Amino acid sequence: MFNLILFGPPGSGKGTQSEKLTLKYGLKHLSTGDLLRSEIAGQTPLGLAVKNLMAEGKLVPDEIVIEMINSVLDNNPHVNGFLFDGFPRTTAQAEALDKLLVQKGTEIGLVLALQVSQQELIKRLLNRGRTSDRVDDVSEEVIAARISEYEKKTAAVAEHYKKYGKVEYVHGEGSIDEIFDLLCKEIDQKKVA
Ligand code: ADP
Repeated sequence: MFNLILFGPPGSGKGTQSEKLTLKYGLKHLSTGDLLRSEIAGQTPLGLAVKNLMAEGKLVPDEIVIEMINSVLDNNPHVNGFLFDGFPRTTAQAEALDKLLVQKGTEIGLVLALQVSQQELIKRLLNRGRTSDRVDDVSEEVIAARISEYEKKTAAVAEHYKKYGKVEYVHGEGSIDEIFDLLCKEIDQKKVA
């Protein structure tokens, strides 16, 4: 099994690149943002509990996302590997994920961290807000709140995996295909090593 974390701030292109990577490497895409949005769309108790936090650009509680991930891992025992997108977002989530993977006899193989300037992030998110139905992309205030959550709580996740030498940084500005090629190079190096 080869498990990958695609890491980076909101708007760094994780969703776009995840789709291409899962196709190429046969991984199971696991986006906590998508999972949470489908809970909201289905008006489940979980969806109702997280709706306002997400609309404000705040992170939802660790226990909720960890439980969600736990059940997806349990329900997909026979995959080639997982691509985690938007998770882990806190050190507590990273530690919980590591434990869950150890229980399943596997681990994180690589963390690919997309680097994009703040100015470019805001531009991309506002642009997405105009064309998608994502409520958290519409206002500059909510976007700023998400970037601030990222800096306060999520940036530390890269430090966590750096301790194990698992992080590679990739320049996340350029064409989708250029960035995809850079990501693939890192994966191929790690997989044959
Ligand atoms: P983006 O990376 O573009 O901000 P996501 O779709 O990954 O978007 O996440 C959208 C929102 O969902 C976040 O702002 C947060 O409220 C919630 N969320 C997603 N994943 C997590 C997570 N792992 N922990 C806590 N909250 C999360």
